[in-house]
Amino acid sequence: MQQREIVVSGIRPTGFLHLGNYFGAIRQYLHMQESYECYFFVADYHALTTHQDPKLLRTQVYRVLAEYLACGLDPEKATIYVQSDLPEKAELYLLLNMLAYKGELEKVPTFKEKIRGRHESINAGLLTYPVLMAADILIHRAIKVPVGKDQEPHLEMARNLASRFNQKFGFLFPEPMAFSETGELLKVPSLDGKGKMSKSENEMATIYLADSDELIRKKIARAKTDAGPSTPHSPKSPEIENLFLLLKLVSSPETVAHFEEAYDRCTIRYGELKQQLANDMIRLVAPIRQRAADLQNDVEYLKKIRKVGAEKARDSAQTTLQRARELMGIAYD
Ligand code: AMP
Repeated sequence: MQQREIVVSGIRPTGFLHLGNYFGAIRQYLHMQESYECYFFVADYHALTTHQDPKLLRTQVYRVLAEYLACGLDPEKATIYVQSDLPEKAELYLLLNMLAYKGELEKVPTFKEKIRGRHESINAGLLTYPVLMAADILIHRAIKVPVGKDQEPHLEMARNLASRFNQKFGFLFPEPMAFSETGELLKVPSLDGKGKMSKSENEMATIYLADSDELIRKKIARAKTDAGPSTPHSPKSPEIENLFLLLKLVSSPETVAHFEEAYDRCTIRYGELKQQLANDMIRLVAPIRQRAADLQNDVEYLKKIRKVGAEKARDSAQTTLQRARELMGIAYD
């Protein structure tokens, strides 16, 4: 039998999942689980880099698991697990840290962004975040990593570490690539025209998979617009560009074409566009929200998914780790 390509990706349990997570990552997981060997995990070690409340962490981990399943991830098709249930990753992280340079880690854009304006001290976990992410990917010897645009620099780091390891100790790791089905990594914009949707930074400008219909309508109604086009075929302002980008993600091509045409002819009414956008978002989000809420009540089931997933993931993790130890010379039998 021909071996299927290996895919890895994860999401941090640092809050409610949102449309950025859905379109940047999960929607691709759904397609990829059909034809690749997939490992999808809840990145709880990663969450610790920004000091999560220990009491909340358990709820958040189970919530991401429930949301994964509610979106359609299938434990029969993909290996779904929690990162810390696979401590082999922590050991590979330690080994890879020996190959990572402080200077290059300090240059990673996400690190620079995270420490900007921070007055409290910066923990080493935050600095070595890309090394842990490399361990996540390399432990399964994955080659495709479905992620949003923000993760591109981390993938570059993973490739550097893989090739550095291979050159120094002998070939073990294929070099992984950030993957998007469309060929272009996605950044789902926030509704306030500033930056991207995120778990914690701008709640009223982010649509969460747990949002009620009413809240979704409210958030979209508040999204920024401009005065409208005054001449045919005018370029769009960034806020309007964002609304169209969101429309393209959730609405039918006919709907998008209808509003594009109205914009070009200067007959567009932003109120109508927002109403349509809200309806189409609710059509996507409402069933996921409902299923996730049901699943969250069934903790025994989620625990089972977690355990079975970790067992499946361990097979591949142990094989890679053992080989890495041997190549680095720390296997003494
Ligand atoms: P995080 O929420 O940072 O743990 O990210 C989990 C996954 O969601 C990663 O693949 C991110 O690239 C993706 N993601 C998060 N926010 C966005 C966004 N606004 N647009 C596109 N992808 C995103």
